[in-house]
Amino acid sequence: MSQFRWPGGAGAVMPAAALGDLLALLWREGFQPVGPTVQDGYLGLDVLHTPADLPQGWTTEADAGWFRLQRSDRAAFFGFNLGQESWKKFLFPPRLPVVTAARQDGLISFAAPARPPTAYALIGVRACELAALAVLDRTLRQGAFRDPDYEARRQAALVVAVNCTESDAACFCASLGTGPAVRGGYDLALTELTGADGHFFLIQAGSAQGERLMAALPVQPVREEQWQQAQAGIAAAARRQTRSLATADLPGLLYERPEHPHWEEVAARCLSCGSCALVCPTCFCFCLEDETDLENKTATRWRLWDVCHNLDHSYIHGGWLRPSRKARYRQWLTHKLAAWLDQFGCLGCTGCGRCLVWCPVAIDLTAELPALRETAPKE
Ligand code: SF4
Ligand code: SF4
Repeated sequence: MSQFRWPGGAGAVMPAAALGDLLALLWREGFQPVGPTVQDGYLGLDVLHTPADLPQGWTTEADAGWFRLQRSDRAAFFGFNLGQESWKKFLFPPRLPVVTAARQDGLISFAAPARPPTAYALIGVRACELAALAVLDRTLRQGAFRDPDYEARRQAALVVAVNCTESDAACFCASLGTGPAVRGGYDLALTELTGADGHFFLIQAGSAQGERLMAALPVQPVREEQWQQAQAGIAAAARRQTRSLATADLPGLLYERPEHPHWEEVAARCLSCGSCALVCPTCFCFCLEDETDLENKTATRWRLWDVCHNLDHSYIHGGWLRPSRKARYRQWLTHKLAAWLDQFGCLGCTGCGRCLVWCPVAIDLTAELPALRETAPKE
């Protein structure tokens, strides 16, 4: 991996103990900090009141169909990789009211739910997830059909990124150029370093807001060896990645092989559970559901996450467009790696690896795509 330089240089050094100052500052500034937490053995994303809420001393191991959260001998606050949840749960919530209706005196009135957005401070966003936020921005904020709720939440959010100095076996961001180093799209970026030299963060501002926050923190100039240690850690994380995704022949490969026999082979394993799409930080499909009270006086229309693996997601005018598992998995992968390029000018995958980790039968797009490429198609 080539050395990277943050915009503006190497930044500064902040003692690990000052992480509490950063969280307190964000609360005072009106943000709600959210980030990784461990509760009941589950690595999720939740509200952070103090650094004690972070999974300090925990680490992860992940591979296709396999995930372990375990204790580490390091005191790092961010010494793990990704959990199941992504930041889309804050910016594109799984369940959102979109309109309410009320009946009174024979008249029905409609109202959009008033919701000043919570100003989230997203703490610990990894490079692949920053790339995923950029994909969601293109999809929901910059495209022909904009989502005002996403726009308001994204506009209000502050991003504190964390460079990865570890990789799980499921990670393949290096092959897509989306990680493990963050390269923009953040307000503050941290690189956590532990060792004989102490426990500290390299901290860098990526926006005017980040600069202002950084000026209020106890930071010192970076020494060259600290900068080198950070670079070496990030480079080692890239080297440890064993998975990759070659994309040079996409989208043609997928468009040209809709009847390739490998689709049937995947369909024979796929459970159509939708886990891969639910955990994906860029998948944005939804359905609408109406709910009324028992007296039929009020009703709410909810937007709920949905996935293209659900049979009913393609139900239209009395039939299903994708009645088979083969058709639905093919739709998911072809959209991610081909049609997304046509629609939004980018891939729908940033190499986070969540879909293969949380697939109960270990279906792995980094293995399925080469199989489609290398086996001679029937057609
Ligand atoms: S398709 Fe899989 S690896 Fe790619 S961004 Fe989505 S969850 Fe991550
Ligand atoms: S590929 Fe795996 S996670 Fe996705 S729908 Fe099929 S079984 Fe579920």
